[in-house]
Amino acid sequence: MALPLIVANWKMNKTVSEAYELIEKLKDSLDGVDDRKIVVCPAFVCLGVVSDQLKGSNIKLGAQNMYFEDNGAFTGEISPAMLKELGCEYVILGHSERREHFKEDDALINKKVKAALQHGLKPILCVGETKEERDQNQTKDKVKGQLEEDLKKVSTENILNVVIAYEPIWAIGTGENATPEQAEEVHAFIRGLLSEKFGQEAAEKISILYGGSVKPGNAKDLMGEKNINGCLVGGASLSADDFTKIVGF
Ligand code: PEP
Repeated sequence: MALPLIVANWKMNKTVSEAYELIEKLKDSLDGVDDRKIVVCPAFVCLGVVSDQLKGSNIKLGAQNMYFEDNGAFTGEISPAMLKELGCEYVILGHSERREHFKEDDALINKKVKAALQHGLKPILCVGETKEERDQNQTKDKVKGQLEEDLKKVSTENILNVVIAYEPIWAIGTGENATPEQAEEVHAFIRGLLSEKFGQEAAEKISILYGGSVKPGNAKDLMGEKNINGCLVGGASLSADDFTKIVGF
């Protein structure tokens, strides 16, 4: 398995000057860390400045979303080529906030996943259940349905460039993380699904991240589980201290 992958999702936070300051701190505090893969995903407007700052550092750049078309009359949207030119290696797709607030469905997310791969971007594909779905024992059905739809027509060769993030919606931004056991149960289930679809060898190489109220105090226990290969960090990634502690779990 590859190095643990720790991804910061800044969401709609940090102006360009604030992003600059946070990156300067992270470059300092994470300098020399070579036993983790570290990615930051700032807002679109910050990507250019942050990309310049990260040149030569051990921190990689990702975006939080993109559209699937190459170019054209899609006012307000951002294309895969625009992200590539700015130095993005990763793009978060299908985050529950995009699904909920911007009505993104699995068919659209599938188009985005395929477009990202075509342009050499690594999708961080987010899946996860609501509280109601968990209470009704529908977690696995929900995650399975999302993965089947979102990964339709993705080849075995391409799946190796996809990162999956299991993010139970009830744990995002709530302070209530899934327990390591709860997360591991779903991660193992996801690995099994990937194995059925793409073969065991490929499935074992795919990073499956956990996201949902990851903090310095719970990162180590979560990362101790066999099928948890990293984490997607929202709120706690806005603090250089907290994010640095999470990376160093
Ligand atoms: C996220 O935005 O993907 C996330 C997991 O947020 P938080 O860490 O704040 O729960």
